[in-house]
Amino acid sequence: MQFDEILKKTEYTESNKPNLKDYESAYNSFDWNDDGYSRLEWLSDGGLNNAYESIDKHVAKGFGDKLSMIWIGKNGEEEKYTYSDFKEESDKFAQVMIKLGMEKGDRVFIFMDRLPELYFAAMGILKAGGIIAPLFSAFGPDPVKDRMLDAGATYLITSPDLRNKISSIIPDIKTLKNIVVINKDNRQKESLVKGDLDYYELMKKVKSSEFSIVNTSQYDFAIMHYTSGSTGKPKGVLHRHQAVVQQLLTGHWALDLRPGDMYFCTADPGWVTGTSYGMIAPWTNGVTQIIYEGGFGASAWYEIIEKYKVDVWYTAPTAIRLLMRAGEDVVKKYDLSSLRFIGSVGEPLNPEAVVWGNRNYKMPIHDNWWQTETGAIMCANFSSNKIKPGSMGKPIPGVTMGILDDEYNEIETDKSGILAVRPGWPSQMYAYWQQDEMYNSRFKKGWYITGDQASCDKEGYFWFQGRADDVINTAGHLVGPFEVESALIEHPAVAEAGVIGKPDPIAMEIVKAFVTLNPDYEQTNDLRRELIRFAREKLSAGVAPREIDFLDTMPKTRSGKIMRRLLKARELGEPEGDISTLEDD
Ligand code: AMP
Repeated sequence: MQFDEILKKTEYTESNKPNLKDYESAYNSFDWNDDGYSRLEWLSDGGLNNAYESIDKHVAKGFGDKLSMIWIGKNGEEEKYTYSDFKEESDKFAQVMIKLGMEKGDRVFIFMDRLPELYFAAMGILKAGGIIAPLFSAFGPDPVKDRMLDAGATYLITSPDLRNKISSIIPDIKTLKNIVVINKDNRQKESLVKGDLDYYELMKKVKSSEFSIVNTSQYDFAIMHYTSGSTGKPKGVLHRHQAVVQQLLTGHWALDLRPGDMYFCTADPGWVTGTSYGMIAPWTNGVTQIIYEGGFGASAWYEIIEKYKVDVWYTAPTAIRLLMRAGEDVVKKYDLSSLRFIGSVGEPLNPEAVVWGNRNYKMPIHDNWWQTETGAIMCANFSSNKIKPGSMGKPIPGVTMGILDDEYNEIETDKSGILAVRPGWPSQMYAYWQQDEMYNSRFKKGWYITGDQASCDKEGYFWFQGRADDVINTAGHLVGPFEVESALIEHPAVAEAGVIGKPDPIAMEIVKAFVTLNPDYEQTNDLRRELIRFAREKLSAGVAPREIDFLDTMPKTRSGKIMRRLLKARELGEPEGDISTLEDD
């Protein structure tokens, strides 16, 4: 196939350093149908299943004994699983779910730390036709409740400690049929709550390890992630099985994944990077994936890269800034020469980080851009492209991106405007769960409106400028101000709350709240601390405000909307802009 040949030519190696021209020709000849979907292993009845593409395909092709996953526990444990092991475990769990009565399209929530069983369960649910909805394990009860209620969750897969953390909200989820609890190696002392099911007991009862995949089609929904907007509660973004084609191809093109590579992605499956590039993209590309249960740690991460000879490392700007802060001396203690490619996503990558990467890792850090709704990388600095530090690169083949004015017409190069994408890419979201109006509002004049502002230069490189809405990006995670405001006003002292993102040198933004108090409450430091603690327990440390200021009156429009823009301008000492709609005090 012509495209394959061009791709080969554009693969970046020591002896082959392709230029932009080679790349452009690959680009212009691309067609999803001819060059994308034809690479998939369709099911015998013409269906498509992303778990089959990720795992079973390799076993069917005779690569079952290749390593799919090396798990490193937070206490230093190590477990290794081949693709055959993975197929067997996920086949078994698929049968467990079928036996429990799970039906095609059921929303199954996974609320767990990064354990091998999380991945077995996820692939098993997908094979059995369910929709997986992974949640970040640091969440407190409120975000879990909002999401499970909204989605009408039917099953929950969790661990004893996390089950315990959210026990109070379980009776509210009336649609919930079963809770499956995984107490790996009996690490946790909590005993099984009456009515819950033990994962290992259920798995033991499965007699055959072979499972015939449920007849999912490319159009069936497979993965659901909640994402925040500036108004209302988070929305459930639904992706189809067909997203796998874009995850497979971008894994190869944008992250340079090759079969047999050792790959380390630091994202958690509670966020879209942790599923698209922490599950589907790496495994469809036949790599061995490192799953590290622990969190950030400069030495711990470098040790992993050295010990397991990691080829490709995919991480995020906040982590890179923390690594920069940890210093060059730490880097020098480790042999990182196995690294071939480093990618970054989630926030703008500072140009200094690219330069720092060049000096310390002997290669640039490749920034790429995408979001929960796009399901896969859309714009990237490819290994074969010249990198312009600070740019998020060029759209991947098959994707058309544009910069629009306020009337949704394309504008000239080098001008800042609305970042938009032509709909129809395979990993596009196809619904916000039961929010059609909101979903439709994201499409204008034949474009999908991303919610970001950007510009595009004459050479076709895109430059991120900022969010077009009030959504806060803290350490690469989007936080909807409304969710935080709702939690704060549940405290008896709080009358009104307005939440903004305050610039921060490491996390890009931190969550900052302004509150007015009910009568009989005083603006004290004790109350401030109490409110932060209250929000942390309800939400999670990452989502709760790090700073709270008291106000005597909240700036609002005459129609009663809190003017977050004004709160932010005042916080930053910037001009207040148009305040003609401001309510009189
Ligand atoms: P999420 O949907 O949570 O994955 O967040 C997506 C949002 O993160 C995007 O709409 C951007 O605002 C931001 N983002 C993601 N990648 C980048 C990047 N490479 N540069 C700048 N912002 C980014």
